[in-house]
Amino acid sequence: MRAEILSVGTELLLGDIVNTDAQYVARELAAFGITVHYQVVVGDNMDRLTATLRQALSRSDLVITTGGLGPTVDDITCEGICRVLGVKRVLDTASLEKIQVFFEKLGREMTENNVKQAMLPEGCEIFENEWGTAPGCVIEKDGKSVVMLPGPPREMRHMFDRSVRPWLQKRSDLVIVSHTLHVFGVGESKAEAMTVDLMQGENPTVAPYAKTGEMQLRVTARAASREVADAMCRPMMEELKERLGSAVYGVDVENLETAVVEKLKAAGKTVACAESCTGGLLAKRITDISGASAVFENSFITYSNEKKTNLLGVPPRTLQKYGAVSEQTACAMAIGVRKAGRADYGVGITGIAGPTGGTAEKPVGLVYIAVADGKTVWVKKVQYAKENDRSYVRTGSASHALNMLRL
Ligand code: ATP
Ligand code: MG
Repeated sequence: MRAEILSVGTELLLGDIVNTDAQYVARELAAFGITVHYQVVVGDNMDRLTATLRQALSRSDLVITTGGLGPTVDDITCEGICRVLGVKRVLDTASLEKIQVFFEKLGREMTENNVKQAMLPEGCEIFENEWGTAPGCVIEKDGKSVVMLPGPPREMRHMFDRSVRPWLQKRSDLVIVSHTLHVFGVGESKAEAMTVDLMQGENPTVAPYAKTGEMQLRVTARAASREVADAMCRPMMEELKERLGSAVYGVDVENLETAVVEKLKAAGKTVACAESCTGGLLAKRITDISGASAVFENSFITYSNEKKTNLLGVPPRTLQKYGAVSEQTACAMAIGVRKAGRADYGVGITGIAGPTGGTAEKPVGLVYIAVADGKTVWVKKVQYAKENDRSYVRTGSASHALNMLRL
């Protein structure tokens, strides 16, 4: 099957935004063994859209469009597809109801032009949009298929995973199996460099996905049965694990905090946290996991020096001599909170999240993370680059703490 990706949006043409939707769809199709022959970008213009779509259908079996499904006059993708395929647009009442509920939940008034988003090609298979208003769909005609997806990446990806993948799966006589390796602690470019030769394969395929400070590698294989496809994934996953070593924190796990809670639970250990620059984020992430009460004792958010001393027992002379953002203070926080919380592990985090603050000696983005277990204290110094904003520094610091707990 020859596929083509048609991205609709003037802002893409102007270079205002990067076409990450096309990148995502292309990788997903590759994992299905579907070759993408063309990627085309077209602006929000009906004549050019229909001309491009006609050309796409003349040379490809499957055309996937992204963008232009919004309620405004410049959102013309659905109308364009219907014109080219010669099908009517009809109101789908179920979709309209969902849009109404979506607005109700937000406490906002639905405007008349949102009705347009529920006008879908007659006879299409509708893909529900769980993250936004515009449903997507697939229309099949004369042996060709057009898949229509929304532009906002979050909506598009979710719809792809939830609806397009099963649709592709249905049409394939092969079974597709994917496993995801979750990686923390090696940069994305380094991890790619370590595994780049494995990413050239066609079956199984290996595709990287970046997340704040983390990385995922998805291994996908296609075969006549689930067992065979699964067996094809295994050696590749072993090879990746071998190369990336302890940076792999889990396979098919939800996230780092889940891996940590599971590990602590299995070991029967508990943790208490003392957080300064992360302001409770570490505690939040641990307690996001259902069942965290088995492993989580308590958390102190000790922003001021006084509270670091009063609540955690950090000696005033440590704070005076080395400063609040120092290896020594992080260690004293970890030791202090472990004792105060009567936990097996104590975690101390102190740093400068920015964008203001910092000195030449201790620049913005400097963070110390310590973990104490009663015998040993491990401490890690992380220096985030200037480009990383406050939220990145905080999320990354909490992730480092989780990673240390895991190891
Ligand atoms: P909306 O209801 O938001 O109008 P839409 O389906 O009409 O959604 P667009 O108007 O084309 O989609 O794009 C909405 C936003 O989604 C864009 O401003 C952009 O931020 C993002 N977006 C659209 N297309 C892409 C793309 N190909 N790659 C990455 N981001 C995209
Ligand atoms: Mg739009």
